[in-house]
Amino acid sequence: MLDGLDPEQREVALALHGPVCVLAGAGTGKTRAITHRIAYGVRAGILQPTSVLAVTFTNRAAGEMRGRLRQLGAAGVQARTFHSAALRQLQYFWPKAVGGELPRLVERKVQLVAEAAARCRIRLDRNELRDVTSEIEWAKVTQTVPADYPAVVAKTQRDAPRDTAEISQIYAMYEQLKRDRSVIDFEDVLLLTVAILQDRHDIADHVRRQYQHFVVDEYQDVSPLQQRLLDLWLGDRDNLCVVGDASQTIYSFTGATPEHLLNFRTRHPNATVVKLVRDYRSTPQVVHLANGLLGQARGRAAEHRLELVSQREKGPEPAYTEYGDEPAEAEGTARRIRDLIAAGVPAGEIAVLYRVNSQSEVYEQALSDAGVPYQLRGAERFFERAEVREAGVALRGAARAGGNDSLLDDAEGLPSQVRAVLSTKGWTTDPPAGSGAMRDRWESLAALVRLAEDFEQAKPGATLSDLVAELDERAAAQHAPAVQGVTLASLHSAKGLEWDAVFLVGLTEGMMPITYARTDEQIEEERRLLYVGVTRARFHLSLSWSLSRSPGSRGGRRPSRFLNGPRPGSTGLGGRGTVGGGGGVERPAVTKRRRRGPALCRVCGKTLTDAGEMKLMRCEECPSDMDEALYERLRDWRADRAKEIGQPAYCVFTDKTLMAIAEAVPGSAGELAGISGVGVRKMDRFGAAVLAICAGEDPVEGLGGDDGEV
Ligand code: ATP
Ligand code: MG
Repeated sequence: MLDGLDPEQREVALALHGPVCVLAGAGTGKTRAITHRIAYGVRAGILQPTSVLAVTFTNRAAGEMRGRLRQLGAAGVQARTFHSAALRQLQYFWPKAVGGELPRLVERKVQLVAEAAARCRIRLDRNELRDVTSEIEWAKVTQTVPADYPAVVAKTQRDAPRDTAEISQIYAMYEQLKRDRSVIDFEDVLLLTVAILQDRHDIADHVRRQYQHFVVDEYQDVSPLQQRLLDLWLGDRDNLCVVGDASQTIYSFTGATPEHLLNFRTRHPNATVVKLVRDYRSTPQVVHLANGLLGQARGRAAEHRLELVSQREKGPEPAYTEYGDEPAEAEGTARRIRDLIAAGVPAGEIAVLYRVNSQSEVYEQALSDAGVPYQLRGAERFFERAEVREAGVALRGAARAGGNDSLLDDAEGLPSQVRAVLSTKGWTTDPPAGSGAMRDRWESLAALVRLAEDFEQAKPGATLSDLVAELDERAAAQHAPAVQGVTLASLHSAKGLEWDAVFLVGLTEGMMPITYARTDEQIEEERRLLYVGVTRARFHLSLSWSLSRSPGSRGGRRPSRFLNGPRPGSTGLGGRGTVGGGGGVERPAVTKRRRRGPALCRVCGKTLTDAGEMKLMRCEECPSDMDEALYERLRDWRADRAKEIGQPAYCVFTDKTLMAIAEAVPGSAGELAGISGVGVRKMDRFGAAVLAICAGEDPVEGLGGDDGEV
């Protein structure tokens, strides 16, 4: 259990009693350290699985953690969000504490706020309504009642979206409306749990007897209300392990604050504090960009930043792409994703991340058009989806009928039986065209088919009943099978997660930072959000933006200010002055051709003297606009060729030459021959294959003889 940890992580895992605080950057293994810690404690018999409560911030992260714990042999440990843990306790204790059923959750909060404003005769436009709703949420998680709201805002110098007396009025009316209608909101779930645990010592004791050990992931985003709940759960005990990264604080707008993380030692002087700096997730290229972004950060969180050190091998440079308009950006992204999948990157290992959910639609469309599977929803609710439940019923029915189900007459083996049953529920061999509900349904059923295939592989000879039992167990553990699609998600919901390839899209001023981020702190939070996005990538990272919204409209947009510096052609950190208005702009292949005459860097324009740099046609440290998927395909092809002819890979082509090819994407023999490192012999032997790969076709081998000599 401890073998998979480095010495500092092991220290975390071994500190099973008393307060523990892990302060570390993205990808350093915080989540890994705490899951191993719990699993180690459970398997060593030191922790009772049911006495541990692990809290994370999103349902998806909680699902991931349950999955990891299960794999490590520590099933039975509760891993939940604050909200779901509180809701569960509230439902359980409500009849005893208050009587009757727990009121239902309000479905459309914004509408209720609008109604409250109307009753107060205050007119709000759509944006103001959103801002006032968030402001009420903030007031509630900071435990500020309507009457105190104006004074608290004045004292904390908060930038309120409207006159504070008006907000206070709307807030009070909103609370009144909820009471009248017997509904509660999201924040009430925590507030009511806190109130019950505070007032009813018998109930608090009950909860404390149940849970002895607490673990909190992403602790930098804890709100005062969640902290209060945590304190009540703990009572006077201190078996609390928190992990977090102040540089990833992205929920301050909801009242969260990294202060609890940063001041942990002040509150718990005997705490074990561990820092981790080795980044196991991302390549040095991704880490370099992440460190650069943080280097420009300001404010309290930034004072505590830790420079990350990548533990991985070199990878491709992050790609920066400028598009004319949003549909072009989505299409270009979908094309690159298709290339990556063709090059062997599983769709489930790719994510497109954006700032606001409304950006998803154009990507859904583009991916569907490109025939790329995707998933929009978090996989944690997989077993709650209507189609999955229906499919479960059908599978159970077929399993019960055993050999007597005519559906299964022609189906041999578990996967084909499952396909036969699910085809009555809408599963087809090929996905339906277009996006939307039909497609979502199909993706879910296809995930079940894949699950059956995997299950059969793991347990040859397994029956339909075995599979149904497995599904029940997974549903109970809320462990969804990985839906093998590209993930489309907001940056906020991506925290804690990772993918081989990440596309950060829509990076324009106005979107990143978002228009309504006005104060310095809000801008800093946006920067951290981008940092979170960048650090989700293991290997491929693409950053893109478009100059206008739709084709033909005026292109007045500018790339995000946070990319000034890292972005090719921009000034600032790491940049080399402006070159022709911006390198990294996706240019037609013709402009990528090799220039004759003195070799100049095609990014910064400097004269090149180093042979390696001349091969690349750019300075080593200038950013690359290489087609990474193509580079990967070329490398795979080279490995096969090298093996075939029994020589080292560099005898086929060196890395630099392959990179130069992937950057230039030659479309003809002439263009390929112009690339340094592609001599006459190599042209003869490999030219056709390389050109075919560049054109996206399968390489035609064997041209030009194959005498084993290079
Ligand atoms: P974030 O701040 O984004 O939540 P994190 O610090 O929680 O990141 P993890 O998700 O735990 O990081 O780990 C990042 C990746 O590095 C995971 O794929 C994990 O399995 C891997 N990893 C972490 N520690 C090690 C280790 N000691 N050896 C090998 N791989 C590791
Ligand atoms: Mg984590």
